[in-house]
Amino acid sequence: MTFLDTDIFAKIISGEIPCDKVFENDRILAFHDIQPKAKHHVLIVPKANLITAQEVTKENQELFGELFLVAKQVAEKLNLSGYKLAMNVGEDGGQVVPHVHLHLLSSDYKSIL
Ligand code: 5GP
Repeated sequence: MTFLDTDIFAKIISGEIPCDKVFENDRILAFHDIQPKAKHHVLIVPKANLITAQEVTKENQELFGELFLVAKQVAEKLNLSGYKLAMNVGEDGGQVVPHVHLHLLSSDYKSIL
């Protein structure tokens, strides 16, 4: 797996590329994955230009924590009783899109994540 050349999620955040939005606030956007690996597959994405979770610091740790809060809100909105959260970190972690994102998967997920 290698990183894509372009930060597709930055283009989705700016509105250049459309998405099927589930949640948005000033800091985070959540939308349905274009190639879902489960019945429900949502990507929870910080709007800040962070490439991988290796960039977490004491200064931005609240933003990373808020991804989990948004995951809970998305699950409530979609009426999910349970879900899997996963984050691929870096190329060797299976990350393809060079922008931090948390995967939320529920029901019938495939074992790749
Ligand atoms: P990664 O492997 O980087 O953790 O996951 C990237 C995810 O982004 C994949 O599940 C892929 O299907 C999804 N994805 C890639 N391009 C797009 C896009 O243009 N729109 C949406 N909604 N999802 C995308």
